[in-house]
Amino acid sequence: MKNGWEAIIGMEIHAQLATETKIFCACAANFGDEANANTCPVCLGLPGALPVLNERVVELGAKAALSLGLSINETSIFSRKNYFYPDLPKGYQISQYDKPFSSNGELTIMTSERDESGRAGDWKPMTIHIERMHLEEDAGKNVHEGLPDVDKFSYVDLNRAGTPLGEIVTAPDFRTSWQAYDYVNHVRRVLQWVGASDADMEKGNLRCEANVSVRKIGEEKFRNKVELKNLNSVRFMQKAIEFEIERQVEAHEANEPVSQETRLWDEKNNQTRVMRSKEDAHDYRYFPEPDLQPLTVSAEFIEQIKAEMPELPDAMRDRFVENYELSYNDASQLVSDRDLAEFYERTAKASSNPRVSANFILSELLRELNNANQTAKDSPVSAENLAELIKTLDAGKINNNQAKEVLTEMFGSGKTAAEVISEKGFEQVSDVSAIEKIIDEIIETNQNQVAAYKNGNEKLFGFFVGQTMKASGGKANPKVVNQILQAKLSS
Ligand SMILES: [Zn+2]
Repeated sequence: MKNGWEAIIGMEIHAQLATETKIFCACAANFGDEANANTCPVCLGLPGALPVLNERVVELGAKAALSLGLSINETSIFSRKNYFYPDLPKGYQISQYDKPFSSNGELTIMTSERDESGRAGDWKPMTIHIERMHLEEDAGKNVHEGLPDVDKFSYVDLNRAGTPLGEIVTAPDFRTSWQAYDYVNHVRRVLQWVGASDADMEKGNLRCEANVSVRKIGEEKFRNKVELKNLNSVRFMQKAIEFEIERQVEAHEANEPVSQETRLWDEKNNQTRVMRSKEDAHDYRYFPEPDLQPLTVSAEFIEQIKAEMPELPDAMRDRFVENYELSYNDASQLVSDRDLAEFYERTAKASSNPRVSANFILSELLRELNNANQTAKDSPVSAENLAELIKTLDAGKINNNQAKEVLTEMFGSGKTAAEVISEKGFEQVSDVSAIEKIIDEIIETNQNQVAAYKNGNEKLFGFFVGQTMKASGGKANPKVVNQILQAKLSS
């Protein structure tokens, strides 16, 4: 950040709640269906059609709110937000205004600045104030590409009209682009974790906007802010914010105006550009939706949702560090995905070796999964089978390299650890008397080396290990070989 300036960033996230059907009608809320296939008089906004609130929206909304530290309000009111746009045939969007579904959230995230190669430094906790999350319906979509005569016509697809959204609004608490980046990733993961949203930015079911302004450190009032939209990934969002901070600081230092406007990220040219200038705050003429009752949420309902909530990722991470003695980084990586975290915990318990389980999952299994474009959820190696492999390794029956090879084979073939080990003939010989017999022969036939070793040439120890391993066809347990050799050569 340039001398003496600070950035002020607030975030808005629209998350599509993962319901089967839309918020006020029974149409499917599917992504990618034939245009306008999922529509009815309610979501088309035909006169006289009446909205009915989908109860599942309230359940998922409650899970989302609780996972973000928000308080759910006993009564919230749906309001009409009036504006005209071709993808909004009703002429208004049903949203919430002065009485939102949930408000006043405190959320602690972990954040870190990154160096030039994108590597994170120290992770530190940061508490964000989330002002509100309200429930609303999405609008449809105008289509300007991929259809005949798009130079003459605009197309409208109303499949998305009426899909349920939670709009999550923070206070302007962020000071750097990486804080905003870490926040959005936190929200994405936690919404997926509790099943409230698929939170997939590529499919557009999580969209974010950043409000960015800068000011001199110590200044109290805010300067003009720019709204950044059309951010298709968290990384683009971070770059757009970074670009915008610099652009604004340079403009202010050159005494050029920074206008209040909406800008979008131009991926090709790595810059933000104007989408539209922002006029004075829109007059949406909000008023309570006359066709819907106030939404009342009982304390029992909230208790019931709380009881259904899984342990949240940050709590799980801290527990992994505490109970399983994992490093903060390893534990964080394991809770990056709920299926992975649960897979890990099952493996750790079944193998009774939490640390080796973590190592194997983070290095070996994740590599196989990435190569196969799969996630822990559909891993061909079950947690129980992986635990068997780790137990075999722990018992010294195979060595570490063999264990890695076995895992690769298990992954490809779906066989158990025991099957692969016996097919490959990896079973190590740990039988002390069998190994003793081999070692006795080697000592017998290498008397010169024995004498040299006893005279202080300690490097020869490796020679004896090598000979023993060779004579056993690589199957002798190296730990046992070492112990016996040490005993025999020092006598
Ligand atoms: Zn409908």
